[in-house]
Amino acid sequence: MDELNGAAISSTELATQVNQSAKSETTDLEKNDPQSTSQLNSQNAVEKAEPQSASQNSLANEQKPAGYNVEETRQNFYSFTLESLEAFLKTYGKEKFRAQQIFKWVYEQRVTDFDQMLNLSKDLRAELKNLITFELPPILKHLISVDGTQKFLFDVGQGNSIEAVVIPSDDRLTLCVSSEIGCNMACQFCFTGKQKLKRRLTIAEIVGQFMQVQDVIGKKGLRLSNIVFMGMGEPLDNPDAVFGAIDVIHSPWGVNLSRKKITVSTSGLIPEMYRVAQAKVRLAVSLNGYDDEVRSKVMPINKKYPLKDLLDECRRYYRATGDKITMEYVLLKGVTDQIEHARKLVDLLRDVPCKINIIPFNEHPGSGFERPSDETVQAFHKKCMDLGAQVLLRRTMGRDIYAACGQLTTKVDRPENMDISNSKIGGTNVRSFSGGQPSV
Ligand code: SAH
Ligand code: SF4
Repeated sequence: MDELNGAAISSTELATQVNQSAKSETTDLEKNDPQSTSQLNSQNAVEKAEPQSASQNSLANEQKPAGYNVEETRQNFYSFTLESLEAFLKTYGKEKFRAQQIFKWVYEQRVTDFDQMLNLSKDLRAELKNLITFELPPILKHLISVDGTQKFLFDVGQGNSIEAVVIPSDDRLTLCVSSEIGCNMACQFCFTGKQKLKRRLTIAEIVGQFMQVQDVIGKKGLRLSNIVFMGMGEPLDNPDAVFGAIDVIHSPWGVNLSRKKITVSTSGLIPEMYRVAQAKVRLAVSLNGYDDEVRSKVMPINKKYPLKDLLDECRRYYRATGDKITMEYVLLKGVTDQIEHARKLVDLLRDVPCKINIIPFNEHPGSGFERPSDETVQAFHKKCMDLGAQVLLRRTMGRDIYAACGQLTTKVDRPENMDISNSKIGGTNVRSFSGGQPSV
């Protein structure tokens, strides 16, 4: 991906499918806990101070992948799969079945103190304490949007941070996680890549985002139901950690989330796409162009992996899994949002089993692109539907806390001049429709 480094900007994606019937603004969060969102959010985004771990200040170790305790020599538990913990224990002469017992404590009982794992002998507990830690990425910030979206900013060391976003909808609570710090794909409309790739996250940091968020919202009686790899970074540029984390999140000995509730979104790294099918999780592809010319302009990766090959690979995924692909399509004013573009897009995807997710561009400084008007967005959506496509329009969420598509960044501070005055949160735009299940 190095040849892409010179290019430019990047970001991330977060938005929610609007419920087809668009019935109520009430989120699961609000329903389950009246104090969680609606009250907190009556005016502006609320910032909550989270307790910080004692080790959080030591951030300067070059060797450590994670930002927490730089003195730590123990293995992070959240990096383990059942198999790798068994192997790890074996090297210390321990029985294999202990791994299963420990996994049950951690993911089923949420016990992360060896002293409380009473089916392990006292000696073993003492030994394990010296070998394994349960540290999670410390939370630097926790923001809650007026629309119920929650953003978590995590410390990942060396002054870097990553973001994960909880997106409530009628019947689900989706966590959007980051897979890298920055991104090298240089999509021209995207904010994350402005920071370029700093490093890829570890399995522990990906699973850690999930467990940390679950622990926080769990205190309010809530449970994450879905996970999407649509945060910072290109998941297929970090496949070993991403699929390792998926193993932990999917497996019955781990988080135990159904494969259908896990979505990997890619800009189209064809050589790694078969792994999404092998893992039997959902595939989303950032299409963002109706032909090679426009796609190569907005997504340089298209020069390396052009549309024909990308769509062939999508068909291969469908043949292997029987699952439709979600095609994400960002509407950029004058570039991808015209009626004839809708026609070309639907033609292009005619024989690809997929649903299209239309995402109105989220503006950020210096992108050189504009967000189309609501009328243009709706006309585009209608045209796709009239042409027989299965298409969904995403309601942009979390813009007031910079948690929307293309607004995630590795830096804690935002550009001073970022204009969110046209935020549509809570507004009347973009309510939608169409057949098919929401994909994320
Ligand atoms: N790297 C992966 C996943 C993260 S990006 C990928 O590209 O698929 C997730 C989504 O955010 C992509 O579909 C991308 O097209 C979208 N996106 C990026 N910047 C955006 C912006 N400024 N406005 C709206 N969507 C954006
Ligand atoms: Fe942004 Fe995804 Fe492109 Fe990376 S691959 S620059 S995260 S849209």
